[in-house]
Amino acid sequence: MRTLKSERYIMTRKLLVAGNWKLNGSIAMTNDLISAITNGLSDSNRFDVALFPPFVYLPQASKLVGSKIVLGAQTVSEHAKGAFTGEVSAAMLKEVGCQMVLVGHSERREYFNESNQDIAKKFQVAQAQGLKPILCCGETLEQRESGVTEQVVAQQINAVIDLVGIGAFADAVIAYEPIWAIGTGVTASSEQAQEVHAFIRTLLSLKSDTIAPLVPILYGGSVKGSNAKELFSMQDIDGGLIGGASLTANDFLAICQQADKLS
Ligand code: PEP
Repeated sequence: MRTLKSERYIMTRKLLVAGNWKLNGSIAMTNDLISAITNGLSDSNRFDVALFPPFVYLPQASKLVGSKIVLGAQTVSEHAKGAFTGEVSAAMLKEVGCQMVLVGHSERREYFNESNQDIAKKFQVAQAQGLKPILCCGETLEQRESGVTEQVVAQQINAVIDLVGIGAFADAVIAYEPIWAIGTGVTASSEQAQEVHAFIRTLLSLKSDTIAPLVPILYGGSVKGSNAKELFSMQDIDGGLIGGASLTANDFLAICQQADKLS
């Protein structure tokens, strides 16, 4: 169990609690949820909060978020403009107030056939427009059981490093999300998560010793108020990417409170 919270400060890694709404929301919910979260957050600024509503609510959310919450999108087109029906570019996201974007969420990989190379391009175009990417990675249950978790995660991350270089990770976040823990209620134990987070940091350090300690690595997969403290206390877990529990202000704030206490 990690107890040295000062270490994270020395490395300048602030905890980040990020809420991915996925395909959920409405105009009313956007108003209510963002207002309730804003009111429930302390002014401490010791940890960061980011929300990722669906595209259509981003302009509305942008007016509501204020200084305590950073706004992000759930995906981005790898193209800048042109005949790509249904796509949204990084410049468009920036224009409506986004500062971050998720790339490579496992649902995008699985349901929209996004390859490691597609995701690397999305990472690149996002950064070119000044958006901070959160690169999601993680293995299926079958892959974990066959002992290839590290191999899978390394391929997912190395595909991005190969395109943009390790330097680009100085302004990026990684989210480790074991697919078997997403939306299932089954959370990786803090030790299981820490093991992969430490592996990811070692992987980065093979390319750059100076960048590796700076990169925030979030854990995602059934994070709740009741398990956030244990997870976020681990040495290489720098916060969480939250799905289900980000849709209710009280649930999300309960996770934020744990981050605040550990900061
Ligand atoms: C996610 O989809 O990124 C996620 C972590 O979902 P949940 O918290 O619901 O498991």
